[in-house]
Amino acid sequence: MWEAPYLVTYGVATDKKANATMERDIDESRQRMIDQQLKLRGITNYRVLDAMDRVPREEFVPLEHRDKAYDDCALPIAERQTISQPYTVAFMCQALHLKGTERVLEIGTGSGYGAAVLSLLAKDVYTIERIAELSTHAAETLKRLGYDNVMCGLGDGSHGWPEQAPFDAIVATASSPVLPEPYKEQLTDGGRIVIPIGATREHQAMMRFTLHNGEWTIEDLGYFVFVPLIGSYGWSGDPHT
Ligand code: SAM
Repeated sequence: MWEAPYLVTYGVATDKKANATMERDIDESRQRMIDQQLKLRGITNYRVLDAMDRVPREEFVPLEHRDKAYDDCALPIAERQTISQPYTVAFMCQALHLKGTERVLEIGTGSGYGAAVLSLLAKDVYTIERIAELSTHAAETLKRLGYDNVMCGLGDGSHGWPEQAPFDAIVATASSPVLPEPYKEQLTDGGRIVIPIGATREHQAMMRFTLHNGEWTIEDLGYFVFVPLIGSYGWSGDPHT
């Protein structure tokens, strides 16, 4: 049954983020990520590159994976979910064409890392997660690191977040069989939706839907692999598959 998402927390600015970026090996790993994983593969938007450079990814991964935080792969987080590969995060952010004035909805908070990156690219970020433990932990991390323009919600994000709509951009970090109908209704004219879509859970294309003067433009941006969007407008079944 559909339940309206409730607000978990609003972040409070702190200066702890700076502490996390002090170690030299982390700085070097992050720089390698920027140069070898992002720039070489076509991430050219300097605001996206700058955001990826500023967010301490090691703070969003479990302790046992911190040494791999900037590796070229997704990593496990709690509840058998994942923090997306850095390139995937940057690719989706770049595809959203954010200028800094937008209200953005992210579906699939996970670790909170993607929301942190988005928070440096947009005015406000609303991020919704269906698993309470992940939402709570991500909200705590985002608050501790001072991402105070990120609002975390708990609920089935396949409905979007109607109470906070409209949004200038919507990004789903879990794959759906179709574009959830509510996303269309919650987007402003001129806005963009980026979402992996596939007829099976294994084959997904990153799709961008742009609304301009009431007309939709649909683009296929390429092949990616995501965990499934579980919910009324996404996949049903075992949430851990
Ligand atoms: N953006 C995340 C990060 O930076 O760590 C990565 C997210 S992970 C690839 C996808 C997330 O989507 C998982 O945490 C999963 O629980 C969540 N998810 C799946 N279906 C959902 C739904 N209907 N509503 C909200 N979140 C959902």
